[in-house]
Amino acid sequence: MREILLVRYGEVFLKGQNRPFFLRKLVDHVKDATREVGGKVWLSDGRIYVSDFNDIDEAMRRVSRVFGVHSVSRAIEMDKGDFEAICRQAAELMRPLKGTFKVLARRSDKHYPLDSPAIMRQAGGHVLHNVPGLEVDVNNPDHVLMIEIRDHAYLSVGRIEGVNGMPMGTNGKACLLLSGGIDSPVAGFMIAKRGVELCCVHYHSFPYTSERAKEKVLDLARILSEYCGKMRVYVVPFTEIQMEIHEKCPDNLTTLIMRRYMMRIAEIFARKDGAQALITGESIGQVASQTMEALGCTDEVVGMPIFRPLIGMDKSEIIERAEKIGTMETSSLPYEDCCTVFTPKHPATHPRKDIVRKAEEKLDSEALIAAAVEGTEVIELG
Ligand code: ATP
Ligand code: MG
Repeated sequence: MREILLVRYGEVFLKGQNRPFFLRKLVDHVKDATREVGGKVWLSDGRIYVSDFNDIDEAMRRVSRVFGVHSVSRAIEMDKGDFEAICRQAAELMRPLKGTFKVLARRSDKHYPLDSPAIMRQAGGHVLHNVPGLEVDVNNPDHVLMIEIRDHAYLSVGRIEGVNGMPMGTNGKACLLLSGGIDSPVAGFMIAKRGVELCCVHYHSFPYTSERAKEKVLDLARILSEYCGKMRVYVVPFTEIQMEIHEKCPDNLTTLIMRRYMMRIAEIFARKDGAQALITGESIGQVASQTMEALGCTDEVVGMPIFRPLIGMDKSEIIERAEKIGTMETSSLPYEDCCTVFTPKHPATHPRKDIVRKAEEKLDSEALIAAAVEGTEVIELG
């Protein structure tokens, strides 16, 4: 008898020909996630099992963050031959609990002498008679004891929800423009959840923004990599470009032109890294550079799709997600972001593409971009 983790995965994405490929990826990611806590991982009978860990709570936390995992339970694995022993163990598991309960049973071993209703009835009766303070409620119980009869018997009470989504690496790769704000980490998470690998680009305006500001962004990237695994972060020196724009372009267009350079440079790193799309944390109308016209102006400078998963979300909804993912606290730290340094007083909210293009002619784009790419620091995470 030993304690293991029982991992359930969403069935929806497992339909069709991709099933073995998706499942293999999922098992690999559970292995990666538990490697440091010493887990042994295997797949059997529609479940993933994890055993031999040195810290069960940490193992559970890590597994619940793997994309594709639906829920995780701590379970007792025991010999299925002695049903009385199973009933005794069920009572032990339920003993610390108060309130109402029911037993659910699943039997994938069809030769087992008891069928599911009999397992539920007998184990339920045993718990009821041996654990004071518990009553049966089959409709709305406080606790559900699950008994599964497979190669062994597995007993579990309760579960924690996983992040769901699709296994990482089953849907290509995209490049996240990661700032130190609340939005972009959430945007990255939402795309990664669909099985998309990430790389990140961050624009750093030293000395207008501090080392601390950069560290904050790397901390955000680290939180994302707890879900996504390995991730490369490109930290691009952006001061020169901002100064040039500030000096040579009309004040009301500086933010927008800066955004266009961010997109152009991100596309270069995306292609280098094998990514097929860009991701930003933009949402319609949130600031002047996120009006319909402004978004159109940034779109036109790149030759790959730009995903904006937050496009229709309110700030309060984004914050709720950031809290759930675990990025909110870090995003709320006060260090200055590069965008706020050169912010114009009256940014254009209805910019015209031809006017923006004309304004950019004053800049030596090729040289500016080449220098920024040349000076980029590459950091490997995960
Ligand atoms: P918030 O709106 O929460 O302050 P934000 O990151 O969304 O943070 P915005 O100024 O709204 O900040 O920027 C819009 C998008 O542009 C961001 O979501 C991000 O994808 C990208 N971006 C902004 N600044 C940077 C930066 N310094 N490095 C990389 N990407 C950036
Ligand atoms: Mg924003």
